[in-house]
Amino acid sequence: MDFSLSSETQARLARFTEFLHKEVYPLEDAFLNQPFFAIEPTLRAVRTKVQKAGLWAPQIPREWGGMGLPLSEFALVSEVLGQSPLGHYLFGCQAPDAGNMEVLIRHGSPDQKERFLRPLALGEIRSCFAMTEPETPGSNPTRLAARAVRDGDGYVLDAHKWFTSGADGAAFAVVMAVTDPKAAPHQRASMFIVPTDHPGYRRVRNIPLFGHAGEGYPSHSEVRFTACRLPQSSRLGPEGAGFAIAQERLGPGRIQHCMRWIGICERAFQLMVERASTRQIGSTDETETLASKQIIQAWIAEARAEIEAARLLVLRTAWRIDQIEHTGRDGFYDAHVDVSLIKFHVANVMLKVVDRAVQVHGALGLTSDSVLSFFYSHERGARIYDGPDEVHKVSAARRLLRPKSKN
Ligand SMILES: Cc1cc2nc3c(=O)[nH]c(=O)nc-3n(C[C@H](O)[C@H](O)[C@H](O)COP(=O)(O)OP(=O)(O)OC[C@H]3O[C@@H](n4cnc5c(N)ncnc54)[C@H](O)[C@@H]3O)c2cc1C
Repeated sequence: MDFSLSSETQARLARFTEFLHKEVYPLEDAFLNQPFFAIEPTLRAVRTKVQKAGLWAPQIPREWGGMGLPLSEFALVSEVLGQSPLGHYLFGCQAPDAGNMEVLIRHGSPDQKERFLRPLALGEIRSCFAMTEPETPGSNPTRLAARAVRDGDGYVLDAHKWFTSGADGAAFAVVMAVTDPKAAPHQRASMFIVPTDHPGYRRVRNIPLFGHAGEGYPSHSEVRFTACRLPQSSRLGPEGAGFAIAQERLGPGRIQHCMRWIGICERAFQLMVERASTRQIGSTDETETLASKQIIQAWIAEARAEIEAARLLVLRTAWRIDQIEHTGRDGFYDAHVDVSLIKFHVANVMLKVVDRAVQVHGALGLTSDSVLSFFYSHERGARIYDGPDEVHKVSAARRLLRPKSKN
């Protein structure tokens, strides 16, 4: 077993790391303390530099302007970028756009690709993904209330969605709605592309999370689609294929999120170690820092072990998926249990590591003077979105309890 990285991978990761240090970390203070739209022009300029450096959209094929990295290579890049809350956004691989790009590449018609995918992949526009509804359980989307009813050669869409991330400023939404309520549960819904200037679309509000509504890319909106008339050409993929496509979209997204969370762990760990080593707490002895206290030492050792273990679990899962896909099978389907395990396990490791780093920083850790407060508040959702912990645990356990021959 060889855990070393090829020299090519090491060199690539070093380029991302260097770029982060030079261009991204210096922007974090403004990002944490100013409204998103105020700093968007600066972010745009950095995105252009990323493109010129050939580091743009590492996850998508070269023909769409990306780097075309395989999943296990992109996982390593995602870890590096995750160390800054701006990383994925500035390098064109942020959720939900990355997922929408992937779906459009796989299922978009030639016209949808030119109209929506091309500008999205080039970073000229943003998009959002509207599946969850306030009135129905997001963890069981077969109960969706949104309806797209056939009308002539098109559809009429009525839907009330929320937690539509990045809707504020998005050019289009990918929407899940039921097209055939009588079909089998997983064949009821379809996906549609709705431009946000389409009649009937309305962004109701940005939902305050822990008291802050925010704006632009890092916000989450409540949106309504009222009697939206859509042509057939706005359907993404076949009618009734909404759930299958959503599953495809979530698979790679979970690896990317998990490695981004490992990146957050690394940043929090590094900040925790720095703070513990420099914060003097003794009355007279200048060498008496927080790091001299055994309880803090234990947190540091435990966090290191937890991060290393979580990281290996995600990388092995990404590697397994790549291996399975090389045989022509569906890697995400076959590695279903592994994907569920990393989704809940890594989210919990991340939140624990960030919480300890906040604790070591004392009051400072709660302020916008530290990136930790952003991680602490914005990443709590990790245990809820893309399947709550409990759903992944139940789903993994069900398969683990099956006789081996049926897995
Ligand atoms: C930060 C953030 C960003 C998001 N972005 C998007 C987005 O861009 N687009 C989008 O469509 N949605 C988005 N969501 C919504 C997200 O997908 C849903 O919140 C999620 O699917 C859970 O649905 P729910 O909130 O309706 O919770 P519910 O389905 O009501 O579940 C509530 C709780 O019940 C428990 N539970 C549920 N099912 C089971 C079960 N089978 N067994 C045991 N316990 C169970 C879990 O603890 C769960 O947290 C986002 C959410 C967050 C927090």
